[in-house]
Formats: sequence, C-alpha cells, structure tokens
Amino acid sequence: MPKQNLVIIGAGMASGRALEELLALAPDAYNVTLFNAEPRGNYNRIMLSPVLSGEKTYEDIVTHTAEWYEENGVTCRFGEKIASVDRARKVVISETGEEVPYDKLMFGTGSNPFIIPLPGHDLEGVIAYRDLEDTNTMIALGEKPGAKAVVIGGGLLGLEAAAGLALRGVDVTVVHIMGHLMERQLDEAAGYLLRKALVDKGIKVMCSANSKEILGENGRVKALLLDDGTELPCDLLVMAVGIRPNIALAKEAGLMVGRGIHVDDQMITSDEDILAVGECVEHDGAIFGLVAPLYDQAKVLARTLVGEEAKFVQKELSTKLKVTGCDLFSAGDFAEGEGREDIVLRDPARGVYRRLVIEKGKIVGAVMYGDTADSNWFFGLIKDGEDITEMRETLIFGPAYQGGEPLDPMAAVAALPDDAEICGCNGISKGDIVAAIKAGAHDLGAVRATTKASASCGTCTGLVEQVLGVTLGDDFVIPAAQGMCGCTDLSHEDVRRMIKSQELKSQQAVWQACGWKTVNGCHVCRPAVNYYLLADWPLEYQDDPQSRFVNERNHANIQKDGTYSVVPRMWGGITTPDELRAIADAADKYNVPTVKVTGGQRIDLLGVKKEDLPAMWYDLNQAGLVSGHAYSKGLRTVKTCVGKDHCRFGTQDSTGLGIKLEKLLWGSWTPHKVKLGVSGCPRNCAEATCKDVGIICVDSGFEVSVAGAAGMDVKETELLAKVATEEEAIALTTAFIQIYRENAKYLDRGYKWVAKVGLDWVKAQIVEDLKTRAALVERFEISQSIYRKDPWAEQATPDYREKKWNPIADLTLEAAE
Ligand SMILES: Cc1cc2nc3c(=O)[nH]c(=O)nc-3n(C[C@H](O)[C@H](O)[C@H](O)COP(=O)(O)OP(=O)(O)OC[C@H]3O[C@@H](n4cnc5c(N)ncnc54)[C@H](O)[C@@H]3O)c2cc1C
Ligand code: SF4
Ligand code: SF4
Repeated sequence: MPKQNLVIIGAGMASGRALEELLALAPDAYNVTLFNAEPRGNYNRIMLSPVLSGEKTYEDIVTHTAEWYEENGVTCRFGEKIASVDRARKVVISETGEEVPYDKLMFGTGSNPFIIPLPGHDLEGVIAYRDLEDTNTMIALGEKPGAKAVVIGGGLLGLEAAAGLALRGVDVTVVHIMGHLMERQLDEAAGYLLRKALVDKGIKVMCSANSKEILGENGRVKALLLDDGTELPCDLLVMAVGIRPNIALAKEAGLMVGRGIHVDDQMITSDEDILAVGECVEHDGAIFGLVAPLYDQAKVLARTLVGEEAKFVQKELSTKLKVTGCDLFSAGDFAEGEGREDIVLRDPARGVYRRLVIEKGKIVGAVMYGDTADSNWFFGLIKDGEDITEMRETLIFGPAYQGGEPLDPMAAVAALPDDAEICGCNGISKGDIVAAIKAGAHDLGAVRATTKASASCGTCTGLVEQVLGVTLGDDFVIPAAQGMCGCTDLSHEDVRRMIKSQELKSQQAVWQACGWKTVNGCHVCRPAVNYYLLADWPLEYQDDPQSRFVNERNHANIQKDGTYSVVPRMWGGITTPDELRAIADAADKYNVPTVKVTGGQRIDLLGVKKEDLPAMWYDLNQAGLVSGHAYSKGLRTVKTCVGKDHCRFGTQDSTGLGIKLEKLLWGSWTPHKVKLGVSGCPRNCAEATCKDVGIICVDSGFEVSVAGAAGMDVKETELLAKVATEEEAIALTTAFIQIYRENAKYLDRGYKWVAKVGLDWVKAQIVEDLKTRAALVERFEISQSIYRKDPWAEQATPDYREKKWNPIADLTLEAAE
C-alpha cells in the first residue's frame, strides 16, 4: 500500500508522544510532515521550570533531536505556522501561503495562555509562561541587579515561575485572587503550608488580591496596581492565570468545537480524516491541562491511525509542584460534601499535613504536604477505587502501617527511646521527664515546674501525660482532655497561649501549629479562634466573617420567625429629632411591624426581612446612624441617666461620660457582649451596678465597678476603684475591657471571667500598676484603629452589594494552573 501523508500541526508534548507511538507501531505507514509555530521541535514543556530555576538547561529537556527526526524520516517545518486548513481539498496552508496535502491530519495545537485584559496588558514586559521564549525572558531578568517581578496567579505555573525567578535573584511578588494558593488542587491548610514555605524562600505572596491595572512608562511595564490602591513596582509581569485550548484554526476549518476540539473515544474529530490530541481537545465535556491524560490520548490516536482498536478513557489525575523544598501532592476530589468524611494528620514539628477524603468506604481525594513519600500508594487507592474500610484506622499513616494492629498510643509512648524529644519548645526528652517523675514529680504541674516540658506552647501536654501514665502506671490517671471542641484536645487557654507564644496570625497557622484534627475547624472553635486572632493581632489578622455566628455575619439579630431586628446606635442614649425621623422613615419604608424601646435605651426595629437589611442600613447610614451592635460579642450600649445637667441630684455629667465611653469603645469585639452604665449619683437611675462596667458619679469623682450581670445570673458589680477624674474613669474602663479581651475564654461573660482570675488580680494589673494600665489602653487603641468602624457602612453601599453577590473569579479557566 502506498504511504499516506500525515500532517501534524504542533510539535508539542502530546503530538510528540503520538508520533513516537505511531513510529513504534508502524514505522512505514505514513510520510510525516511536522509543523510547529515555535522555531524548534518537541521538548519537554513541563521541564521549563527546572530550566528557569537553573537546575536544567534547554538541551537537557529536548525530547526529539534533529537526528531523531531524520532517522525516522519526519519532515520538519519548524518556525512555520499553519494559517488555515482546506478540508475540501485536504490541504493545510502555511502563513507563507504554501500548501501541503494530507490524507490524515493531526491537530496538536495545545493551549494559549489566558491574558487578563487589564488596562496595560499589552505593555512590553508583560508575558505569559508557556514556552522557551518566556523562560529565557525570565532568565535574562535575573541578570539585572535589583530586578523586580510580579507574577499574577498563585497556581502551579505561577508558583513555579515565582520560585524560578527567586532562585535567579529576582525580587518576586505573587498576586493571587483567591484566599489561598493553588486552590484548585489544595485545601486551605495545605495552601497555608505552601505559602509559608514560599515566603521562607523570600517570595512575597498576596492572596485575595485583585489586580486593577498594569502601569507603564514609555511603553514598558512599571508596576501592577491592585484595586485597594497598592502599587507593586516591577520590571517584568508574568501572567499565569490559566490557559484556553487553541481551537481557532480548527473552528475556522469548520470542525466541531466547544471549549476544545470535539473528539470521540478514538481521538477523531467531526471530520474522519482529522484527529486531535492534547490540550486542544475536548473529550466527553472535559478539557486537559496535565500531561498524563495526553499521553493516554497519544497512545489511542496512534492506534487509530494504524487501524487498531483503542479507546481513550478519562482517569483520575494527580498534581505535584516542581519547586524544590515544597513537597506537595494532590489528587482526586477534596471538596467538602454530604456523606464525606475527612481523616487529617498534622505533625506540626515536621511541617507535615495529610488529608484523605473518604466517601462510601473509598478514598476520593488526597492532599499531602511536607511528606509525599506515600503519595503514589494513596493515588493508587483512589484510581482503583479500593475499599479501605478494613484499614481505616491506620490508613493515614501510609502503607508501612497496614496489616498490623492499630497503634495503641500508650504502647507507642512506652516504646519511645529515652532520647526521644517530647517537648520541642524546650528540648526536653522522654528520659528527662521520666527522671523528673522518678524524683517525685507525679503530676503535670510538677513535671512542668521541674522540667519545663509542656510549659511553653502546650502541644505536648498530652504526650507528657502519657509519659506520666506509662511511668506511674495505675497511680496516674490521665485527665480527660477538655479540648475546645472535637477538633482539638487543647483547651481555650492552651490555644490562646499558642497564638501568643508562637505568633500565630491566621486560622491556618492555628490549625497547623496546634495539630487540629479537622480540616478547617468547626462552628465551635472557628468563632473562638477568629476572635483570639483579631484580639491578639489586630493589625495583622484579617477578620474572617465566615467564622462568626449568624447575627454577626448579617449585622443584625435573627428573631424566632427568621426576620431580623435592627438597632441603630444612639450615643449614651441621646438622640435627635432628625435621627428619630430617619428611624421612623425606615420603619415606614421597610414595613417594620414593631418599633420597641430596649432596656438599653435604644430603638429596636423588629421584623425586618433579610433581603431588606442592606438597603435599610444604607438609608440609616445616610442619616448618620451607625450599627448599635445589638447582635455582637462586643460593646453593646452605654446606658446613662440624665446627670447633673438636668437632675437635681446629679453630681457629674453622666450623660456626657456615657457618650464619651460609647464613642471610644464602640465596634470593639470582645469575648462576649459588654454593657456599660453611668449614673449621675448613687440613686443609680442607669442601673449601672448590674453591668459589665458600671460607673457611679459621686461628689468626689467616680466609682468604677465591674463584673455585674443581669441576665441568666443576676449579680451586682464589685468596686474596682474610686477615681477623682473623668480621664481616670475612662482609662480604667478601657483597661478593664482590654484585659478581658486579652485573657478571657471566648463566650465567657466578664463576670464569669473575673470570678476565675479573681478581682484582686485584675486590680493588681490595672489599678495598682499604672504602666500595665497604660499599655492596655494603648493596645486597645491600636485595635480600635482597625475595628472602630461601622460594619453597615461598607456592606450597605450599592457598590459593595453588587460586589458581594457577583462572582469574584472567572472559574471557567482551565489549566495545569
Ligand atoms: C512551565 C510549564 C510547566 C508545566 N508543568 C507541568 C507539570 O508539572 N505536569 C503536567 O502534567 N503538566 C505540566 N504542564 C502542562 C503541560 O506542559 C501541557 O499539558 C502539555 O505540554 C500540553 O501538550 P500539547 O501537545 O497539547 O501542547 P503543547 O505542548 O503546548 O504544544 C502545542 C504546540 O503547537 C504549536 N502550535 C499551535 N498552533 C499552531 C499552528 N497553527 N501551527 C503550528 N504550530 C502550532 C505551539 O507552538 C506548540 O509548540 C506545564 C506547562 C508549562 C508551560
Ligand atoms: S442617677 Fe442620680 S443623677 Fe442620675 S437621674 Fe437618677 S437621681 Fe438623677
Ligand atoms: S430577655 Fe430573652 S426573650 Fe427577651 S429579648 Fe432577651 S433573649 Fe429574647
């Protein structure tokens, strides 16, 4: 049979592999002509990253040399782009107008990098990361002293580009629109670890960052401007935000295309003489961005070309990042869903994280960071859909633990050698602890006092107790762990201590450093941890609204029928006719069924529909009213009496002091709600003595008392101090609230917390120690520089409303990225 003409468009990884397969099956079946728009033949595109980082050269990654093409009789037309295909005449037409006839045609045109059409995207110095030219541009940048680059895109490609640039000495910032890196492949926890590792390599990482414009000078890129106004100067801007199958040529030739060129299981397009392979195809609704499936396609395509039966079947995929020192692996589906369970292993000391997602007795997803040695084994279980019920208990430890007995933690501790480190913070070994126990330290406190083990971050407390148990036998009963919730055995106090001592500034850092057993905490621990983080690191930590209770998320109180109630702030209980009119107008406009005066001297608009909340807030804001935080674990109201301006008995300006306090303290988040009262004389018309802080004005000054309650428990306040001036009363109040913020367990009311620590301790800190008082006031002010704001003001603007409900990212992008 005479040889047929096979023309291939694109010398990429997929067509290269197809060609190899074909030549192995039937070396003489076709005259092959290979066109490539790039001025070179097949090379391993994946390995561009090691070329960029300097670990390999271009020569190392060439897969087919000039000799190979010659030996195999392939006619190479490199640097020549095909401009059109005339299917009727069965010819391809190159850009120069030359026509080459075919019997069979193969599309292997790959993908085009997606360039976000930001203003300035066409400036010189804005590149994608796709081919050798891009790689060489980045390598050249490394030769310029003090060069800066910005990479938009925190996916696989963007991070490999950033890591390579950093190794070349470039100052790199990664800008990523989503909340964590590689969000398609990793969960938040693994994303956090990856970010930490990259930051340790000197790469700056900005997540949840939205690019607005690329700024230029004389036609060249100068900086990237973010929509919050941040400007990131750069000499090169790499866009690695996604790829799109390169289908223009196929579409123009009249082939059926969707997102990619439609192919059947045999890799044949809608024209039986035209086949397609690689990133340019769409098979059964899917498109492809990693090489594994392309190689399967190549095998099938070669068999189809020689008339053998073969069928392309889509399989599970896995991803690894090729950045030295960042071992991560991800496969399958790890989204949360009904009926799905997680098994999580965290080893904070080694920086290891593993998560398996189980559904119906099978692993459906796996994410691993730090130690990926067992990744292939897990990937095999996913691909084969193996039933893991039998090995569930030890599954997470990997193949080495299978077939044995489940590990008894006590037996494991007993088996530890004497020099095994138990307390990482203080470098205390098991032998040191056993020696201390033998010398008489028979409980945790004594071991802590004599060895310092478990005295710093506290994560080893459980282990220390197990050593006590193993050494003392029945004489020691391991205390039942009073963890915050099922996600951790650590108590609230332990977690707070960790957050401070280890400077943990994000939820992910807490999950990892404290060895959380769940992926992302639960409804019990998340609000608490969110609070602790913002109380301890107000400038660094960004509040996570999703980790708040429904009232705080919606900035209104949910009522029993599902409607909300809205309480605008009236400073110190004072209002004006204009404010009253605005409240009345809002009540009319939004059909508020009940308008109620609260016990805290404010007006409550009850029965508001959730969807009316933003518009109603907007109207109230326009009249100068802000949220009263009646829903929050924070400052509620400062109730006042009329004081000396109007009352015959008034000794001081109690209303004025109440207003000052409310304006100072509003917006602050606290472990639980906080209420204040200021009365102008001991007749106490503001009921100040059943508040968290109550002030009674007297002739000689002010009596500041704390820790009252008038809820489930009724409790009179206790005197903190008598002070002469208003300034002192304000400073004491502020210091008390701050010390409560910094020390109390989340959801402990002030009076409960004071009962735990003792009023004497509080007095020693803030009444007797003026330095500590001043420092607390200062820290409160720092926190308020962020949080003294009206949550309505932002959410209620029409602009925000639109943003909140519109999607923030184009999730249709598909890629290795
Ligand atoms: C830096 C980088 C790192 C990567 N790392 C990984 C990884 O770790 N793991 C992984 O699985 N995948 C990785 N990928 C993705 C992987 O490289 C691609 O999936 C794969 O190369 C796609 O193969 P392809 O043959 O479909 O397309 P390509 O390899 O892109 O080849 C297409 C070729 O067609 C040519 N062409 C297009 N149109 C025409 C025309 N009209 N005329 C002539 N020629 C034309 C193009 O010039 C190109 O050379 C990475 C990609 C990049 C860019
Ligand atoms: S507390 Fe004293 S000053 Fe205030 S209104 Fe009552 S009587 Fe008057
Ligand atoms: S006192 Fe009880 S019933 Fe009344 S508003 Fe408060 S929580 Fe509701």
